[in-house]
Amino acid sequence: MKKRVVVLGATGSIGESTLRVARALSNKIEIVGISGGQNVHRLLEISREFPAARICAGDELGAATLRSNLPGCEVLHGAHGLETLAAMPEADLVLVAIVGTAGLKPALRALESGKDLAVASKEILVMAGEQVMATAKRMGGRVLPVDSEHNAVFQCLEGQDHSTVKRLILTCSGGPFRKASATDLASVTPEQALKHPTWSMGRKISIDSATLFNKGLEMIEARWLFNIPMEKIDVVIHPQSIVHSMVEFVDGSIMAQMSSTDMALPIQYALTYPERHSGPCAPLDLTLVGRLDFEAPRADLFPALELARRAGIAGGTLPAVLNAANETAVEAFLAGRLSFPGIWESVARAMDSVPFVEHPTLDELIEADRAARSVIAK
Ligand code: NAD
Ligand code: MG
Repeated sequence: MKKRVVVLGATGSIGESTLRVARALSNKIEIVGISGGQNVHRLLEISREFPAARICAGDELGAATLRSNLPGCEVLHGAHGLETLAAMPEADLVLVAIVGTAGLKPALRALESGKDLAVASKEILVMAGEQVMATAKRMGGRVLPVDSEHNAVFQCLEGQDHSTVKRLILTCSGGPFRKASATDLASVTPEQALKHPTWSMGRKISIDSATLFNKGLEMIEARWLFNIPMEKIDVVIHPQSIVHSMVEFVDGSIMAQMSSTDMALPIQYALTYPERHSGPCAPLDLTLVGRLDFEAPRADLFPALELARRAGIAGGTLPAVLNAANETAVEAFLAGRLSFPGIWESVARAMDSVPFVEHPTLDELIEADRAARSVIAK
């Protein structure tokens, strides 16, 4: 039987890779719903290629354009449209690949409607990991990781007794400034920061990879996905991005997952889990890679890792504050209103100033997110 999939964020980098997987595995995967933000032209093209899918545009204007070009097709729009798509009865699984936290409510709706959730949008687990995982547990749905590191850990943990895990080792390419000095970092431009050495991705995650906030967010993401304390989550720099992450067990054995640098593989495994199929990801030839390097991160030059560790250990509203402050600071950096080091300086300021709630409700998390954004905007 085909897996019926809704793709939220179909016009983005992860969205396009998901469509590549769906094309290659058309006998296994059926796209039944798609959403996109402002790129109506691309949304229209995708709708023509996957005509069965219900569509959600970013706004009313986009929806009107789609309706006039796709007679008979149901077109929704905005936040409400995303939630309707996430809950549609024809779907088995909802993949959330919307940048930032706009995917949180649709993700919760998907789980509440009894569906499995494939998560690319790490920000939603950073903001509300406890709520998302509790909803999955209550409803019996799976939360399947799409992020390459977490998909790797997920694969390494299969069939293992989780109580024998000593630590998770998340690999990190180091970003474009792996060898930079503090002076170099002070004058980094958006153009330089957007050039990732190994992955081609959306703008926000590319900047996060340059500051290492991406790895910081991923530490918190791992904490929730695998229900493991922050103290047992480590980061190692691995510039080739071939080992996607590792798990060390109490006996000293380390399991690693390797594959080509292509998001199609983790996306495919999340969509077809627990099955494996031949798909679009190119095979990995280790003789061509030649060598695999590992080194410790430079925590002094990249404070994002320690800020994230602090937020993950404290829990409560602090991860939501870190995430929202980072999102707003990245926007300011891309708009030329903030320096590169200004990103982590702003995040630290928001973490120190927004009131802390230890056991927040969803509304309190949303309020912490709003408060953090207003600290940065000042
Ligand atoms: P992207 O910017 O390329 O695409 C984002 C998608 O979300 C687009 O379809 C856009 O139209 C849509 N969107 C943006 N804001 C929206 C809003 N407010 N409402 C509705 N739709 C909206 O981003 P991406 O690189 O594909 O990343 C998506 C998510 O996946 C991020 O959370 C990122 O951290 C995560 N992720 C990405 C990669 C990668 O290789 N690109 C890897 C791991 C995790
Ligand atoms: Mg990742």
